[in-house]
Amino acid sequence: MIRRKIARNQLRVGRTRSRQWRVRNMTKKSDRDQIRRRNRKVILQALRRCGPQARIDLGQATALSPATVTAITSDLLDEGLIEGIDSEDTGVNLTRGRPRSLLQLCSNAAFVITVRISVNSIALALANFAGEKCRSKFVHFDSSTANAENFPPILLSAIETFMEEANLEKRQVREISVAAQGVVDLRTGEVVWSPAFAGRNIPIIAELRRSFDVNCLLSNDTNMITEALHWLEPDKYSGTFAVIMLDYGVGMGLHLNGELFAGEHGSAGELGHTNHMPGGALCRCGKQGCIEAYLGDYALIRAYKKMSESSDPKAILPDGATSEELFLSAENGNEHALKTLKDAGIVLGYAIARILAILDPSRVVLTGQSVRAYQFMEDGLYQGLNDALVENLTTKFQIDVMPWNADFIHRGLVAQAMERLDNRSPKSTQVEPTSANNDKLMEAPL
Ligand SMILES: [Zn+2]
Repeated sequence: MIRRKIARNQLRVGRTRSRQWRVRNMTKKSDRDQIRRRNRKVILQALRRCGPQARIDLGQATALSPATVTAITSDLLDEGLIEGIDSEDTGVNLTRGRPRSLLQLCSNAAFVITVRISVNSIALALANFAGEKCRSKFVHFDSSTANAENFPPILLSAIETFMEEANLEKRQVREISVAAQGVVDLRTGEVVWSPAFAGRNIPIIAELRRSFDVNCLLSNDTNMITEALHWLEPDKYSGTFAVIMLDYGVGMGLHLNGELFAGEHGSAGELGHTNHMPGGALCRCGKQGCIEAYLGDYALIRAYKKMSESSDPKAILPDGATSEELFLSAENGNEHALKTLKDAGIVLGYAIARILAILDPSRVVLTGQSVRAYQFMEDGLYQGLNDALVENLTTKFQIDVMPWNADFIHRGLVAQAMERLDNRSPKSTQVEPTSANNDKLMEAPL
C-alpha cells in the first residue's frame, strides 16, 4: 500500500518535471524567436538608414556576428525583401579591388501611405519599402463643415484616387499611417477633437480598415515629429525629450525613457490646453486661460491687433499674412510687436518650466511656424523659466530651435509604419486587431 503511494507520488513528480521541462523549452524557443525577430528588424532598419551594405559592414553597423548576419540576410533574400547588387551599380567608391557584393532593400516589397489631416487639408504621401517618398498630393476639404458623417467618405475617396494615380493595387499597400492635429484616441481610432473638424469623434481607423483591409494607425501630428527626430538622429534624440510645436495650436510630443509616449488613450502631451491663467483668455477649445490662448498663432494675432481676450478664436483665421505682418513689425523694431512676442515667450517659459519639473528631459525642441519669431520670444522665455523654477533645474537641459518643416510629420509616420512592418513579414496579409495593440509593438529603432 505504502509502496503504491510512493510510486504514485513519483509518477506525479515525474509529470510535473516533464511539464516544467516543456515550459522551459517553450520559453527558450519564444526567447530565440524574439531575438531573431529583433535582429531581423535591426538589419532591415540598418539597410533603410544607411543604404546598400556589404554583409561585413552590416555586421559592424548592427554589432551582430557574421553568422547571424548571414543567416538573417539569407532569409530576407528568400522572402524577396532584400536583393544583392554589385557595388559598381550603386556608385559606391571603393578604394581598391573588384566590385563587392552589396545588399539593399527591395523598394517595391511593400508600400506605406501617410496621411496628415490639418485645417482644410489632407496631405497624402507614398513611401516605398526603402522609406523613400515616391509621390505626394494635397486634397482640400472644408474644415468648417467637416464632421463624423461627411469626413470619412472624403478621406476614403482621396486615398483611393491617390492609389489609382500611383497605379497601386490595394494589396501592395501594407500600412496606412494617419496623423491629425488635436486630440486622438488610439483605442477607438477616432479624432476626438481637432481644429481640422467642426464635429467631434471623427472615425478614421475603422473606416480605413473596412475599405482597404490594411493595418492603420492614428497618431497626433506632434508625436510624429518626435518619432522623426528619433529616427533621423538617434544619438541626439533618445532617452527623454519633448517637442513643442508652436503653430495654429500648441502641441507636444514626448519621448520618455527611449520610447514615444502617447499615454493610455493617445492624448498625452496636450500641453496647449493645460491652464496658464484661471479665467483667462478664451481658447479655441472653449475653455479660458489655456496656454494655447496665449501662444497659438490666433492668440498672437489677437494680442497684436489689441483685440479683447474674449474674442472668439474661430473668428481669427490664420491667414499667414497677419502673422507675417507681426514678425516683420518685430524685425523693424515696432515696440508693440516686440512686447506681444516677449509676452508670448514668458508664457512659453512657464510651460517649459512645468515640463522640466515633471519630466526632467535632456532636451526641449521648439518647432512650428511661429519659431520664426523665436529671437523675439527668447528673453521672455528665460524670464518665465527663471520665475517658475529653482535655478539648478533650469540649467540641466537644452533648448533646440528647429525651423518648421512639414515633411517631418511624413518622416515620423513612415518611421512608425516601417517599425511596425519590420516586426512582422511585410508581405504578411494579416491585419492586426486594433490600433492600440499595434502601438504597443513599437520599439526604439536600432
Ligand atoms: Zn484650450
